[in-house]
Amino acid sequence: MHIGVVGAGVVGLQTAWQLRLRGHRVTIFDPKPGHGATRAAAGMLAPISEVQFGQDKLYPLMLAALREYPEHIARLARATDRPHGYLENGTLLVAGDRADLTRVADHARVHAEHGMHTRPISQQRLREAEPGLNPRLAGGYEVPTDHQIDPRLLVGALQDALSAELDPGDFPGVGPAAVSREETVVRIDESGGDGATQDVTTAEGRVHRVDRVLVACGLGYRSLGGVTEGFPLDLRAVHGDVLRLRLREGYLAPGERHVVTATVRATVLGRQVYLVPRADGGLVVGASVREDGLSGVNAGCVQELLEDAVTVAPGVRDMELVETMARARPGTPDDIPYLGYVPDAPGVVVSTGYSRHGILLSPLGARLGAALLTHEPLGDDDARLLETMDPTRFGAGAGPARERLAGGIPA
Ligand SMILES: Cc1cc2nc3c(=O)[nH]c(=O)nc-3n(C[C@H](O)[C@H](O)[C@H](O)COP(=O)(O)OP(=O)(O)OC[C@H]3O[C@@H](n4cnc5c(N)ncnc54)[C@H](O)[C@@H]3O)c2cc1C
Repeated sequence: MHIGVVGAGVVGLQTAWQLRLRGHRVTIFDPKPGHGATRAAAGMLAPISEVQFGQDKLYPLMLAALREYPEHIARLARATDRPHGYLENGTLLVAGDRADLTRVADHARVHAEHGMHTRPISQQRLREAEPGLNPRLAGGYEVPTDHQIDPRLLVGALQDALSAELDPGDFPGVGPAAVSREETVVRIDESGGDGATQDVTTAEGRVHRVDRVLVACGLGYRSLGGVTEGFPLDLRAVHGDVLRLRLREGYLAPGERHVVTATVRATVLGRQVYLVPRADGGLVVGASVREDGLSGVNAGCVQELLEDAVTVAPGVRDMELVETMARARPGTPDDIPYLGYVPDAPGVVVSTGYSRHGILLSPLGARLGAALLTHEPLGDDDARLLETMDPTRFGAGAGPARERLAGGIPA
């Protein structure tokens, strides 16, 4: 089949890769590939440390997605030499003072209730493991299974794997190299009455006929015309400010690797900050969560992030600040994505609303999205995960994903 993918963020690219692996021809539309929310993301793959109270339906998705990462990365690395930045460096949850430690301990209790593995870590052990942390921190917890990936590197690796000539000996049945078009999609329409083909119209005035369409353009979903117009989704912009810093040459003492080596998520005076160290000496500090509509960088958020990061690891003060950035996360009321058929348009699948966890959830969303597009049979576990992401769950459109799966779409 020829499948059009609208949006080349992490979700569109991951799904395009899954489709190519399944033998399909893919055309990807995006005026600025990789420059949406994906560009800002820290890339924490952190189902445990990122858990919030009351998000019971999200944890199984996050845990299932994390389990898919190693195999997914191994396959990607066979297709391209480009680095992907996947790093199994674990995470520390730390607290600025005693009151913060109570908050972190409350979270640890939620983790334990959901069978998630965290271990208390003493101040002394914390100092031994991470000498760059402030010795006055009140303590914390270790999360050895929460890791990270560099989303910008991942985007580059996916783009390379999508466009490379792949050896069918290594990738049996693989589809042709994907085509990328730097065009903005304005509408998607069924071209025949039976939904067998779709027309993708772009702002550049072209109409591309394809068999199926994946709509993975994040918040851009809201401005599309055609079949999605009758299916509005509860999507909102949740902006995040994030900082990128770099170690200065000669700063580290012999034997030191970074100001911190594990990802550190800290609670400082009740505020949240994370420090994600990259293998190349970079450090990502983030992120604010705001719905004030400001698409540029918020000065106060930058100030708080820097203050809190320096409180957690005083060496941050001596690093070079190389970038401040803000992007909008495609937010949903429950932080759970929308993945399923667009009602009454059986050849169109929507995959958006990945909120705060799109990098983590993307291999899972991509695999299930590809399965929906190509009408693959799904096991019970996958069907349950899909049901959680049912795009009609807030009342819009028709029945749940499971019913549509049972009904099927034209082959
Ligand atoms: C500051 C910050 C930190 C984050 N940290 C993490 C983290 O640590 N871990 C994690 O898992 N997640 C994190 N996230 C969330 C994650 O970035 C998002 O969930 C994820 O990037 C969403 O991916 P996407 O592909 O759906 O959207 P996007 O990355 O926004 O991609 C959508 C793409 O669609 C394109 N597009 C839009 N409209 C059209 C159109 N009409 N036609 C064609 N193309 C179009 C855009 O140009 C864009 O490239 C973070 C987000 C932010 C903002």
